[in-house]
Amino acid sequence: MTELTDPAARLGAIRERIAAACTRAGRSADEVTLVAVSKGHDIAAIEAMAALGVDDFGESYVQEWQRKAAHVENVRWHFIGHLQSNKAKFIVDHVALIHSVDRASLMKALARRSDHPVDILLQINVGEDPAKFGADPGAVTATLEKALSYEGLRVRGLMTIPPFGDDPEDSRPHFRALHAAFEGCRDWLSARAPERLADFCELSMGMSDDFEVAIEEGATLIRVGTALFGPRSYT
Ligand SMILES: *Cc1c(COP(=O)(O)O)cnc(C)c1O
Repeated sequence: MTELTDPAARLGAIRERIAAACTRAGRSADEVTLVAVSKGHDIAAIEAMAALGVDDFGESYVQEWQRKAAHVENVRWHFIGHLQSNKAKFIVDHVALIHSVDRASLMKALARRSDHPVDILLQINVGEDPAKFGADPGAVTATLEKALSYEGLRVRGLMTIPPFGDDPEDSRPHFRALHAAFEGCRDWLSARAPERLADFCELSMGMSDDFEVAIEEGATLIRVGTALFGPRSYT
């Protein structure tokens, strides 16, 4: 397989694939935000993508993110990794969106640590994959209701990581299930907390191997690492 080594060429190719998937789905390309997952890549790689117009970067590890955030300015950081409650304080006021909130203890730690609303997504383990974090798909509205009970949190939507598959199509039923859970949450909010409905508009799903399928199934945030930056030094 030929690898595109130039960051501009890689980004251009991803943007074209996003646009084509949006066209297939009858969506506008500005409904989908590319989150460039920069874990395992250095500051120079992030700055190169930022210079090409990428505004949103995703990181999974608190210490690695801190090291980078001290040097890279004027980007929006997304925290996408599993987060221990005792590390919530390090990121809470410095990232735009935390994608990986899956339990009450973490909600509590985030709400307590900030003096302004913290934007979060609820991570749902739609594939019920024992190797993945995320709230039980049978308890999505209960998880939502719990999150809404913390005044410091602003619940922006749902996120998932489907089980690893060989074919991007393997992810489709999981993305569809997350979208259905999202609509269920919106219905619940309409009935029970209509003032919170407008905030709840994001679906974070799709990675390098399956982001086009995710866009077809309604993703508003796609998290792309390898296809944009090349292979990581670790997984
Ligand atoms: C690492 C990671 C990604 C990016 O994965 P790629 O396959 O490299 O695109 C996306 N989402 C999460 C939660 C990740 O941890």
